[in-house]
Amino acid sequence: MDPILTKKHENLREEVRYFAEKEIKPFAAKLDEHSTFSVEITGKMFDNGYLRIITPEKYGGMGMDTLSYIVAVEEIARIDGSQAATVAAHNSLGQAPILKYGTGEQKKKFLPMLTTGKKLWAFGLTESNAGSDSSNTETTANLKNGEWVINGRKIYITNAASEMSGGVTVQAVTGKRANGMKELSVILVPRETPGYSCEPVNSKMMWRAADTGRIYFDNVKVPEEYILGERGRGAKIMLATLDGGRLSIAAMGLGLAQGAYEMAMKYASNRIQFGKPIRSFQVNSFKLADMAMKIELARNLLYKACWLKDNNQPFGKEAAMAKLYTSEIAREVANESLQIHGAHGLIKENPIERFYRDQRILEIGEGTSEILRLIIARHLGIR
Ligand SMILES: Cc1cc2nc3c(=O)[nH]c(=O)nc-3n(C[C@H](O)[C@H](O)[C@H](O)COP(=O)(O)OP(=O)(O)OC[C@H]3O[C@@H](n4cnc5c(N)ncnc54)[C@H](O)[C@@H]3O)c2cc1C
Repeated sequence: MDPILTKKHENLREEVRYFAEKEIKPFAAKLDEHSTFSVEITGKMFDNGYLRIITPEKYGGMGMDTLSYIVAVEEIARIDGSQAATVAAHNSLGQAPILKYGTGEQKKKFLPMLTTGKKLWAFGLTESNAGSDSSNTETTANLKNGEWVINGRKIYITNAASEMSGGVTVQAVTGKRANGMKELSVILVPRETPGYSCEPVNSKMMWRAADTGRIYFDNVKVPEEYILGERGRGAKIMLATLDGGRLSIAAMGLGLAQGAYEMAMKYASNRIQFGKPIRSFQVNSFKLADMAMKIELARNLLYKACWLKDNNQPFGKEAAMAKLYTSEIAREVANESLQIHGAHGLIKENPIERFYRDQRILEIGEGTSEILRLIIARHLGIR
């Protein structure tokens, strides 16, 4: 048993593992092949609580801690990155900022819809000219007669364009600061608002069964009180939300690496060449040993970061390190696992082929590896 996890966490792991094996695994390859977002699986994940795991019970959530949430994401990612992405984005980018920065009224209005109401909520930061440099946001929100009038577009937004999408927390320029810089704020925008439209981004190499969308705002009007947190604090809110989001990406990397390692171990034990299972060749046993060691290190780092968060201690540095490290070891483990599978690993019917593709986003989304190294260096006091 892991020293940080309790019996409750271990029981949850067992439960989610059973669900992922039974309800996701048999369908993952087909959904990936046809780029299909599954309303049915998403509905079951709502029913089981995985899509409302961190939100308090009074808003229809499960009221669990960060470690529970991370174990759930890890177990789903062990089977399928797309379903893990849906869960991670809805919890840590959808509900978490409303929970942390929302007023009592906002929580009462929006959270039940995102828990028992089974609507997904997105996080709209990225734009065509605002990727790593999110301060370059061009979407605007002007306050007129007690309403925010929003114009612009967001791209590559998870959970933005399926029939289950309920809306988005959007970063927009709400004015100019005294120093000439953009004033950035975040606003909650329900999907049914006139002028709001969205469309899926197709032809992705990875997370093909997760919903990724573009959102367009054409004179979208929402009440002034839909601003989340203080006016002008948008960048702080979005960046702090990403600290939590990075724990989820790390959990996806850890789960993916675990799944890829298990596949490698199984294949290497059963594949006979030169009269022996290929795992008995030293080079392959060393590969498996390296995989197991990296996964162990990644797990320890990630769980420590979650523990810090659950105990109200600063966790930004550890979250950045965990995201960076797990996404990089996920690449290494998926790559070596595929190598162990030989030609078989290159064929779509084998899940390692999907894992090899799904890993790639983890080094880009919610902070590229280059940006994460900058963030870690800043935490170390290096400017
Ligand atoms: C499937 C998917 C889902 C996504 N979901 C969401 C979502 O839900 N919400 C959301 O807001 N966004 C989302 N994104 C967007 C994602 O967060 C961005 O792609 C990411 O932040 C990087 O931005 P970019 O792609 O524009 O790359 P860029 O910022 O253009 O970077 C390109 C390259 O330049 C490097 N680079 C940039 N600046 C520096 C620098 N200062 N120093 C060194 N190197 C640098 C980067 O590391 C990278 O290698 C998603 C993306 C994908 C593909």
